[in-house]
Amino acid sequence: MVDDSTYDVAVVGAGVFGAWTAYQLRRSGKRVVLIDAYGAGNSRSSSGDESRIIRMGYGADEIYTRSALRSLRLWQELFARVDQPLFQRTGVLWLAHEDDPYNLKTAETLEQIGIPFEKLTTAEVSKRYPQIGLERISWAMLEPESGVLMARRAVQAVTFAAVKTGVKYLQDAVSPVDSGTDVRGPQRGSPAGVLDPPVNHAQDARAIKQKVNAMSSPAARGCQSFFLICWAKEFILRGRRFSTLELPQVT
Ligand SMILES: Cc1cc2nc3c(=O)[nH]c(=O)nc-3n(C[C@H](O)[C@H](O)[C@H](O)COP(=O)(O)OP(=O)(O)OC[C@H]3O[C@@H](n4cnc5c(N)ncnc54)[C@H](O)[C@@H]3O)c2cc1C
Repeated sequence: MVDDSTYDVAVVGAGVFGAWTAYQLRRSGKRVVLIDAYGAGNSRSSSGDESRIIRMGYGADEIYTRSALRSLRLWQELFARVDQPLFQRTGVLWLAHEDDPYNLKTAETLEQIGIPFEKLTTAEVSKRYPQIGLERISWAMLEPESGVLMARRAVQAVTFAAVKTGVKYLQDAVSPVDSGTDVRGPQRGSPAGVLDPPVNHAQDARAIKQKVNAMSSPAARGCQSFFLICWAKEFILRGRRFSTLELPQVT
């Protein structure tokens, strides 16, 4: 069924970036539609695996450390709200060789921002983690507050929360206006695990970006993953051409 509902923003891709973007836009009062070709946290997406590390150390790149810190807080708030233990505070252990510039810079940044970490000698590492070989290791650094996100289920939880707050979710593929092809290719509906032809997110992203005013996250650049936010431009959905301001509600 198609009606004439309109949206302020269409977010294409319900991976971790798209799902959070849709959720936060909705919370800031926007009318949002979130569209994914295969479903939130699907196994072809890079967010669709069982687990992902969330850590604070990014060398001298303080902006990523601050971003990770804020992300972890937001994840924990969400998990508390939905009552799902999808963050495991395992700690993150960095193994370093002497004068390792990345680890030294990481330690400096964490100290500057006030993120707790422990510096460990090899003797301490060997006592606490006897399973780890210490060849070429001179010291280590433990982030006790960091750990593992249960990625697929976490992305699905954000998407569910987004839908509960009023985001319209559609499972469908978005194509560039002049491509004439569905990004899933002719094998739509092929048995699970069969990837023929494979979805080329990078190529599709490039094609779509030519037609919409798109924004891709720094973390996604260089990966075969992306998310797009379309600002009042056109794209093809279910064989019809729409702008985000005239996007149909499809149920
Ligand atoms: C092996 C591996 C290990 C990693 N480990 C870590 C880690 O430990 N910690 C960490 O922080 N990061 C890690 N990363 C990076 C992290 O997983 C990615 O940065 C993140 O998942 C990217 O999310 P995304 O939302 O941008 O993309 P994706 O999760 O790929 O989402 C893109 C979504 O867009 C949909 N889509 C694509 N094209 C269309 C279309 N035309 N129409 C509709 N929908 C479309 C897809 O179906 C997909 O769901 C790892 C990545 C990999 C591959």
